Amino acid sequence: MTNRRNTTAVPVGAVVIGGGAPIVVQSMTNTDTADARATADQVASLARAGSELVRITVNNEDAARQVPHIRDLLAREGVDVPLVGDFHFNGHKLLTRFPECAEALAKYRINPGNVGRGSKRDSQYGAMIEVACRHDKPIRIGVNWGSLDQELLTRLMDRNSELPTPREARAIVHEAMIQSAVASADRARQLGLGADRIVLSCKMSGVQDLISVYTELAQRCDYALHLGLTEAGMGSKGIVASTAALAVLLQQGIGDTIRISLTPEPGGDRSREVIVAQEILQTMGLRAFTPMVIACPGCGRTTSTYFQELARDIQTHVRERMPQWRREYRGVEEMTVAVMGCVVNGPGESKHANLGISLPGTGEVPVAPVYEDGKKTVTLKGQGIADQFQQLVEDYVVRRYPRRES
Ligand code: SF4
Repeated sequence: MTNRRNTTAVPVGAVVIGGGAPIVVQSMTNTDTADARATADQVASLARAGSELVRITVNNEDAARQVPHIRDLLAREGVDVPLVGDFHFNGHKLLTRFPECAEALAKYRINPGNVGRGSKRDSQYGAMIEVACRHDKPIRIGVNWGSLDQELLTRLMDRNSELPTPREARAIVHEAMIQSAVASADRARQLGLGADRIVLSCKMSGVQDLISVYTELAQRCDYALHLGLTEAGMGSKGIVASTAALAVLLQQGIGDTIRISLTPEPGGDRSREVIVAQEILQTMGLRAFTPMVIACPGCGRTTSTYFQELARDIQTHVRERMPQWRREYRGVEEMTVAVMGCVVNGPGESKHANLGISLPGTGEVPVAPVYEDGKKTVTLKGQGIADQFQQLVEDYVVRRYPRRES
């Protein structure tokens, strides 16, 4: 198990980031925030999937005007997930002109590379911090290498070029990211915001870049850190790249909240990024969200699709039942269920799980022994193995996990 870095705890609504609190899963909508109904629906869907904070873009006056309305729509549906407003370029104007928006949000994300240029930069950043202080809201100073403060980068590049042995340009970009985050946090502190109101992030799209920057950033400050590989991409590439980067950092105890920036397939489900984030944390043993289904990959000993179908059906069943189980039973999210394809590893793996089934491989006797807490309890056979096993999972949950007090 990793030793979590000792960071300052930042309360965001009822959620706490850092200070040893469980690592928080967050996500972001891709609806037009000015469309309050569509945005509230997507926020609700992300929250139901397990997102503990949801970020929405606040990019213009129409969007800012709708934020309190979105909060109301969610309240009517019983969804109290904290909303984070994502501000760029005009955030100072929107936050000051729309105090109800500033109040309805639980946190503001500010990108120091996009708060204004030259002489306006300080005053516009200051205006946003002032609003955060007035409404007692935390901020995330979110540096992104796609919108890095160019004045700072140029200054560091110029200084580097004057050195007898200049460092690689990439190292200077990393340094600029870190300095932008830390200096912006220092400035916010000078303006009256507490350390317990500041979260930092330095998002990059390269795995090695992200690991280098966060490893260094974690040594230079005690602020709570938000982790994420920006522009991770689509499908398996996005998942693999995000996991590779985040796993290395999380294992070092770095990271208090995470987001997986997956590009959904057209018409795809936005909640996928929440499930991937949960699965990273759960497979690393950092948090438990939902029972884990362990399935072998199958091989030449599983020549029908029956085994894959059962593994998929059990996984789906467990996910669908989880919202109710979570409300009713304590600790059910820690359950493991093994679905194995034959007798080679089936019984052994099943014994390690809370509940396991070892299906018959090709040419084996058509029976499926079931194990509960390491002991063989029943052998299923015939056509209805899938339904019978599903019922055994239901019965196990009722028997094994204590009911919550209502
Ligand atoms: S448990 Fe059996 S079916 Fe599954 S991968 Fe191993 S040998 Fe193949």
